[in-house]
Amino acid sequence: MPVITLPDNSKREFDRPVSVAEVAADIGPGLAKATLAGKVDGKLVDAAYVIEHDAELAIVTGRDEEALELIRHDAAHVMAQAVQELYPGTQVTIGPAIENGFYYDFARDEPFTPDDLEKIEARMHEIVKRDLPIEREVWDRDEAKKTFAELGETYKVEIIDEVIPQGEELTIYRQGDWFDVCRGPHLPSTGKLGDGFKLMKVAGAYWRGDSRNPMLQRIYGTAWPNKKELKAYLHRLEEAEKRDHRRIGKQMSLFHTQEEAPGMVFWHDRGWSIYLALQQYIREKLRAHGYQEVHTPQVLDRSLWEKSGHWDKFGDMIFTTQSEHRDYAIKPMNCPAHVQIYNQGLKSYRDLPLRLAEFGSCHRNEPSGTLHGLMRVRNFVQDDAHIFCTEDQIQSEVSAFIDLVFEVYRDFGFDQVLVALSTRPDERVGEDALWDKAEHALEKALNDKGLEWKLQPGEGAFYGPKIEFVLKDCLGREWQCGTMQVDFSMPGRLDAEFVGEDGNRHVPVMLHRAILGSVERFIGVLIEHYAGHLPLWLAPVQAVVANITDRQADYVRQVEESLKKQGLRVISDLRNEKIGFKIREHTLQRVPYLLVIGDREVETQTVAVRTRAGEDLGSMSIDALAARLAEEVASRGRSVLED
Ligand code: ZN
Repeated sequence: MPVITLPDNSKREFDRPVSVAEVAADIGPGLAKATLAGKVDGKLVDAAYVIEHDAELAIVTGRDEEALELIRHDAAHVMAQAVQELYPGTQVTIGPAIENGFYYDFARDEPFTPDDLEKIEARMHEIVKRDLPIEREVWDRDEAKKTFAELGETYKVEIIDEVIPQGEELTIYRQGDWFDVCRGPHLPSTGKLGDGFKLMKVAGAYWRGDSRNPMLQRIYGTAWPNKKELKAYLHRLEEAEKRDHRRIGKQMSLFHTQEEAPGMVFWHDRGWSIYLALQQYIREKLRAHGYQEVHTPQVLDRSLWEKSGHWDKFGDMIFTTQSEHRDYAIKPMNCPAHVQIYNQGLKSYRDLPLRLAEFGSCHRNEPSGTLHGLMRVRNFVQDDAHIFCTEDQIQSEVSAFIDLVFEVYRDFGFDQVLVALSTRPDERVGEDALWDKAEHALEKALNDKGLEWKLQPGEGAFYGPKIEFVLKDCLGREWQCGTMQVDFSMPGRLDAEFVGEDGNRHVPVMLHRAILGSVERFIGVLIEHYAGHLPLWLAPVQAVVANITDRQADYVRQVEESLKKQGLRVISDLRNEKIGFKIREHTLQRVPYLLVIGDREVETQTVAVRTRAGEDLGSMSIDALAARLAEEVASRGRSVLED
């Protein structure tokens, strides 16, 4: 008879098979009421699922992450029921839970209007109020096909025929008189869905994602455990929209993209100056941390990519070109090229570690539908480096890199960084002893720093374990930027070696590492994190000097020149416009400092200083202002963190 082991390791024995709900009731009435589903031996199941043998069980309630998926999947079913009640004759197809919500694809001749969405949403709330039990039924395949055919649900018949593998149990989930082919699991009843959902939009979608198939109507919704969380999500969405880097990029004239070069960025003067400031900063860090900067070709012969394994592995992602009957790849990554530099001249153990860095421009043929501003592009620059070292040097190199990563992120104003260690996958190259050593080295480096980190077992690359660094921005969104990957494979494939202390030749270990990841994407993240109000050291224009009347024009030019000489990015605004107008315009451009010059400032040889936040700092001498700005530039994004 089943012995149930709960997450706290306590055990409960039953003299007959029991359902998840019954175990919950046995624990207490409060839990019974809150139970949405269960996790039996790690598998998510309905609350009604019957456990027949000894098993580990975790009760899933609204507080668990697993509940979100159930809620979203249920919302999809409830929406489909609402649609079929309101618009008879509409066919349902598929409707999964997705990130933040759900969708369902419908076949209906007439398009759904915004009014329809409101009606559907209202009907969904009604179905929730009916609190219909959601029940799982196992059906015979032929009987199911017959039933759906009679209902005119031809898509469902196709799903039964082609999507659900022969031999797999065909399950139906029923709520009231509505039912759907579904693998489940689901909540116990429609009432458990609550009111934390909202329909968002309608879009076209081809049946089974194939453009030769009929176009269906996809209704998207979002769903959360309660109204409060729904509201918080809608607020985040609104904030994210306001901060959209494409929108701010346009307002501030930083960059643009156009149809003639999909996924490739045209950087304007102001955007490029952010790029250069960032690059200059990274260069300083590279020098301080013992890297050599190199630069390698954009186009390399196919044979090199075949040898490195990328030609097969990357396949359609590689842009290719031909010349004189030779095939070339436009490089999708920099690693093989760096090995070519390493291979020039025989290396000895005394040359290691050798750290080669490059702002490496890479091209990858991402599908056009996935391209997104600076965040997902086809041409991007990695702040890439490869460290060639011995096995014994892995730990100290990783340790130094962790310091560098945290230093850089802090300078950019990010203090929330998540760290994850991914270890050996089933399919891999290299001896287990080598994996043991490398994983241990990474783990020790992380622990020695006293960092909190997450273990991702089996998620390493086939060629070695890796550490990932994920930034959290001001909206709590996560951006994976930095990585450090150990590679036991590529150096050997590309004939890299060194003469060891023992006089024999050895293959070095290669560490691939990036801090920002893609420079384009990192700038996108910065723009959204700061809503365009970049810290002074990154701001494209750091100060504008503006006159009140023509009388001050000469002095304005003098102030501009003097600040420029101190290395600041300053422009003057001598237009014949009202000072209020000028201030408004440059504030909208997010210029950190506005220097206003009237007769009094000319007389006293000062500037009246205002910040983009609207703060009036009063008058000060040019020297005092320059000193203040220099200090702020030097403190970078850290000043933002400390505010
Ligand atoms: Zn690499």
